[in-house]
Amino acid sequence: MTTVHVPAVRTSAADLSVWPASTTEPAPGDLAVSGVPLAEIADRFGTPVYVLDEAEVRERCRTYRHAFPDADILYAAKAFLCRAMVHWIDEEGLGLDVCSAGELELAVTTGFPPDRIVLHGNAKSPHDLDTALRLGVGRVVIDSPSEIARLAAAVGPDGHQKVMVRVVPGISAGGHQKVRTGTDDQKFGLSIADGYAQHAVTRILDQPQLELTGLHCHLGSQITGVEPYLVAVRRMVGLMTRLYEQHGLVLRELDLGGGHGIAYRPGEPALDLTALARGIRGELADACAAAGLPRPRLVIEPGRAVAGPAGVALYRVLAVKHTGDHVFVAVDGGMSDNPRPALYGVRYAPRLVGRRSAAGPARVTVVGRHCEAGDVLASDVDLPGDVHPGDLLAVPVAGAYHLSMASGYNLVGRPPLTAVRDGHARLLVRRETLEDIGSRDVGL
Ligand SMILES: *Cc1c(COP(=O)(O)O)cnc(C)c1O
Repeated sequence: MTTVHVPAVRTSAADLSVWPASTTEPAPGDLAVSGVPLAEIADRFGTPVYVLDEAEVRERCRTYRHAFPDADILYAAKAFLCRAMVHWIDEEGLGLDVCSAGELELAVTTGFPPDRIVLHGNAKSPHDLDTALRLGVGRVVIDSPSEIARLAAAVGPDGHQKVMVRVVPGISAGGHQKVRTGTDDQKFGLSIADGYAQHAVTRILDQPQLELTGLHCHLGSQITGVEPYLVAVRRMVGLMTRLYEQHGLVLRELDLGGGHGIAYRPGEPALDLTALARGIRGELADACAAAGLPRPRLVIEPGRAVAGPAGVALYRVLAVKHTGDHVFVAVDGGMSDNPRPALYGVRYAPRLVGRRSAAGPARVTVVGRHCEAGDVLASDVDLPGDVHPGDLLAVPVAGAYHLSMASGYNLVGRPPLTAVRDGHARLLVRRETLEDIGSRDVGL
């Protein structure tokens, strides 16, 4: 156990705006999260390594519950999940949104109440659906017409399963084209515009063992404005109104998904949760009153905004190369532990930790160790000009879609994840070893 306690002094606060709230600078050039110096974590667990601030995760859950006291808040497990995380989410009173049998099984076998879990997926396998029914998942979100008959058959004539329908409201929002899921030209959901959503509802109503509790939509990710959610409320209540007129159907739940944007670098915008909550509450009340419908219970599904800002990734510098106009700082991780810059062009703000440097800033590109020229972690960032092999770099906002998206590329093994709390660090997920990798290679 790490037992170093660091006084809670915050200097250069502006620089730490995207870091966990517990981040301190115990000595110049040093950074500690929840009282644990990052250099100590690197020494103890090796690099690359992820650090997750437990208090920050819990605090973010509480912020959601406080902002949305009347809503069900489901943490989107795909952002990051491990057994400790399952406990924290449960203890903080949130539900879970999962999108595979694997995420579902992990949560339920860790003791998470299955009735507080919602299963998503545009292509659920028979195994996904069987696991959902076997474990008693709370809701299955129907995402394609063929899923209705498949699910009904799997449930059986005497069974019962609550479902929602994933609706495409026709809204373009989100930080990158690859994460926009509210429009009609992508793979998720059933569109309002072409009538598929309404048609799916009709077919579900024909299946007595399926109970439709509400509609769902998820507009995309990294949305920083409130307006797209308000448009979604209007369109979803519009559909609910037509369903009421057509079938006399009154839906009890409205799930607006997640996608709440966060800042990855100081100065970037983030979605204002208080404004979001106030806006949605008002819009939903007005739209339902105008339609003469009772207000459905609101469900929201934040992933990134709960886990992302609570995490930090630590790397060791292995090489510094000056070529033409560029300085490349190569670290011991890269696209296998963070594919997001390569996938979506996400920008990060890495920082030298573990030593003080008096050198002036140099414009550098931080690259990974993988065999791809596109293996760039952060382009055109300022680091001290004397950055050299052996230095430690810390990348904040690494708690979501990092380890969960990590790959086996180049057989370097996925990094471990440690949790820090009250001056202590503990291992939650160990490093993937060559033995782990070798154990799957059974052909010789
Ligand atoms: C990914 C996803 C979320 C969470 O998105 P974030 O951007 O992490 O908040 C919520 N709901 C659904 C259906 C998703 O696919």
